[in-house]
Amino acid sequence: MTFRNVTVAGTGVLGSQIAYQTALNGFKVIAYDLDIEAAKKRILALRDSYKHDLGLSDEEFQTGFNNLTFTTDLKTAVSDADYVIEALPERLDIKEKFYQQLSKVAPAKTIFASNSSTMVPSQLVKYVDRPTKFLHMHFANMIWKCNVAEIMGTDQTDPAVFQAVVDFAHDIKMVPIEIHKEQPGYVLNSLLIPFVVSALNLWVKGVADPETVDKDWMISTGAPVGPFAMLDDVGLRTVKNIVLGLYQTRHTELFKQIADKLQPMIDAGKTGTTDGAGFYQYPHPAYRDPEFLKK
Ligand code: NAD
Repeated sequence: MTFRNVTVAGTGVLGSQIAYQTALNGFKVIAYDLDIEAAKKRILALRDSYKHDLGLSDEEFQTGFNNLTFTTDLKTAVSDADYVIEALPERLDIKEKFYQQLSKVAPAKTIFASNSSTMVPSQLVKYVDRPTKFLHMHFANMIWKCNVAEIMGTDQTDPAVFQAVVDFAHDIKMVPIEIHKEQPGYVLNSLLIPFVVSALNLWVKGVADPETVDKDWMISTGAPVGPFAMLDDVGLRTVKNIVLGLYQTRHTELFKQIADKLQPMIDAGKTGTTDGAGFYQYPHPAYRDPEFLKK
């Protein structure tokens, strides 16, 4: 079971990276999104990172880009897809509707994977018509350098499908992390989400401002960034969706308070690194200033 044609559904923060990384490694990729002009812009904006971090020339970047096509029509997007990776917003209603539609239009051969950060595959598998061909493949932000792919199925996932996705991960230069038991948050977010929620809690309660929290973490542990810089990279829309998801399941008021405090930032277009501002201003965030840790 090998993949040639890959469709990425939703080319926002993560989908744009998945689509480009896959195209760069020689696959024919169809990027499906409601807004394809924004998708193209987002992918072209990755050029500097690939150049800076991987030494890719403009010609090499363009060769990867030439393997991409863009569409707003789901049927066209998946008509010959071997593999669909879904990176739609972290909202169950959107994903439910998507998998129901996808099941109707995708050929029988197509394997479906979700990049969802907070849902588990058994939550989504009920909306697909092919449970043996459904699993999660979860990437970390900045996939060209933070190159893990956490792979997690349900007890219905065909082991051959699981293995095909592990092989695909290698093909696009990811390190596959095979997770053999359903775990909310996989490995990475089982560690990361409690960490960033604790930081947001300090901010919401007025204990310390974001820069102070990051400074303490960076000086005390030697880490290159703190939790608020990480949150900017994740994107504050996604962060808000994650905390609202936690509020719905755990009914803890803190999660609602965090979402409410993020909303004015999102309304003002401060949605994180990709949009040039979040807790920090980009491209020169304060935490990269050599003086940041000295004051
Ligand atoms: P995002 O909001 O940046 O992007 C979502 C994209 O989906 C947008 O481009 C939007 O136009 C498009 N979209 C929305 N509804 C659509 C529809 N019905 N049909 C087609 N396109 C539609 O979100 P994101 O941060 O890239 O997150 C996407 C998924 O990836 C989520 O499941 C999230 O949990 C997961 N994820 C995110 C990160 C991260 O750091 N941001 C990391 C790992 C996994």
